Amino acid sequence: MPYTAANNRYETMIYNRVGRSGLKLPAISLGLWHNFGGIDRYENGKAMVRRAFDLGITHFDLANNYGPPPGSAEETFGAILKNDMGAYRNEMIISTKAGYWMWEGPYGEWGSRKYMLASLDQSLKRMNLDYVDIFYSHRPDPNTPLEETMGALDHAVRQGKALYVGISNYSAEQTAEAARILKQLGTPCLIHQPSYSILNRWIEDGLQDVLDEQGIGSIVFSPLAGGMLTNRYLNGVPSDSRAGGPSVFLKSDHITESKLGGIRALHELAEARGQSLAQMALAWVLRGGRVTTALIGASRVEQIDDNVAALNNLSFSDEELARIDEIAASAN
Ligand code: NDP
Repeated sequence: MPYTAANNRYETMIYNRVGRSGLKLPAISLGLWHNFGGIDRYENGKAMVRRAFDLGITHFDLANNYGPPPGSAEETFGAILKNDMGAYRNEMIISTKAGYWMWEGPYGEWGSRKYMLASLDQSLKRMNLDYVDIFYSHRPDPNTPLEETMGALDHAVRQGKALYVGISNYSAEQTAEAARILKQLGTPCLIHQPSYSILNRWIEDGLQDVLDEQGIGSIVFSPLAGGMLTNRYLNGVPSDSRAGGPSVFLKSDHITESKLGGIRALHELAEARGQSLAQMALAWVLRGGRVTTALIGASRVEQIDDNVAALNNLSFSDEELARIDEIAASAN
């Protein structure tokens, strides 16, 4: 069946302004790091992107290396656009990144101008796009001058191959410096993509202040701690879960007894709020409005439905917040 987007797709989603820019992003965005690779079922990936868009998720986050194999998530997304959803390109914000290992030799990773711009060309080809909406430096490169990496981002915008630029995994200090350079170049830093969740709060220690001062938005990745902050692991490690598969980022031995105790306590608290644990974890990163959008992953359509319903209750009492802090401190 040819795809026609749901008529009511903009009715319930919340759209937040990205820092001091003119762009808005949905409070929940979908990342294609896992489950959209060449090894995964295309039909499942397509169903997830369709459902997300029907729920008002206009932002899809990619990177050159997502797969496996590296590059294949962009190919999957390109095929979905070509076969199915291309008519909606102007209603989508599509991002990609360069920074991690992508190809052999000295020009296949990190932050040189050579690598960044070649990688963006490859990403555009894989996705069948003329431009991406956001192009990121995926990680800081200790051996390349920041001016060079930021200069490559600025050049991508001037070439018309990206509309905005962002940085990911940069520290508070590196972010302040990157923002300064980009401002000077005339291409302001739109957004930062750091990790953040109830169990991982490093951005509260300086980075968020820099983002607020500079008017940079934030899109936080792994808000569900890769699936730990969901009902996935309450009763063991299912074989079809991330920790049950080959992922090196979430292994079954990461889910220790102490973590599981915390996860169960958080699950109880979420139930008392009338939410799933995933919903409470997403509401938590969005509380107070400092985060622009929570960047989720998903392995099936139902998870996207569950996650978007987090927006039905984004408020917390002081007691609930204190209890979450207490549980998180004991679960680490
Ligand atoms: P999450 O923390 O949202 O974890 C997603 C996983 O949680 C899913 O694959 C699924 O696991 C499980 N899950 C999701 N929703 C539910 C639910 N409602 N109920 C039960 N389980 C659920 O994020 P990711 O770690 O996947 O990262 C999200 C995105 O962030 C990536 O796709 C990527 O775009 C970006 N990212 C960026 C990085 C960077 O360096 N800039 C690094 C990492 C991610 P399961 O598969 O087990 O079903």
